[in-house]
Amino acid sequence: MIMELPKKFCIENYARVEDGVLYIERLERIEDLMYELSYAMRKHRCVYCGKKLKRNNSTLDHRYPRDTGGVSIVNNLYPTCPLCNSHKSNFLHNEYLEICKMNRDEKKKGIRKFRKYHERNLKKIGYILPKKWVENVDISQVKCRPPGLDLRGKKYHRIVAFWEEHHKLPKPIVLDKNNVLIDGYNIIIFARDFNIKTIPAIKLENVVVVNSEF
Ligand SMILES: [Zn+2]
Repeated sequence: MIMELPKKFCIENYARVEDGVLYIERLERIEDLMYELSYAMRKHRCVYCGKKLKRNNSTLDHRYPRDTGGVSIVNNLYPTCPLCNSHKSNFLHNEYLEICKMNRDEKKKGIRKFRKYHERNLKKIGYILPKKWVENVDISQVKCRPPGLDLRGKKYHRIVAFWEEHHKLPKPIVLDKNNVLIDGYNIIIFARDFNIKTIPAIKLENVVVVNSEF
């Protein structure tokens, strides 16, 4: 998929946008980089209430929330005021817009309906994301450098628990154009441990990690 990018962006020795391609020099603090890119390109108004936002009173909402597989990439990060972001909680963008229109009595029912929908989908596909964002990749093609630590911590055990309950992975990994891993190292370790050969991935065709030797 193509990641939405601002026309101009540069943080020296870290990342830059050139001719519609994002070049990343280091993979540390990648989530912060995605946040900066989103701020650089979006209008600074809350997508829900329309309030004007300043950099210091603004948050970025995961349109597809993290617990439905919503990864931190620019296409999934939208500016919101802190209040709307906390009310939206882990609803999908469209669900929250519907909930906002409901009166008090309808709200309870509506919330229950959406929760059920999430549960059903998590069982079925493991997460809720637009189909065109995700493709399956052979894990042997993924290039990544182990961070040198054993990462089988909390995040890893959450993946194991999710797998045991739903027999699916909770989110896709994120790759650059050349299959360099940008996000999801825990998933890779898990897949290797459990001998899973093919995993869902979001491949960013206009993102290149430079100076990566594996
Ligand atoms: Zn708002």
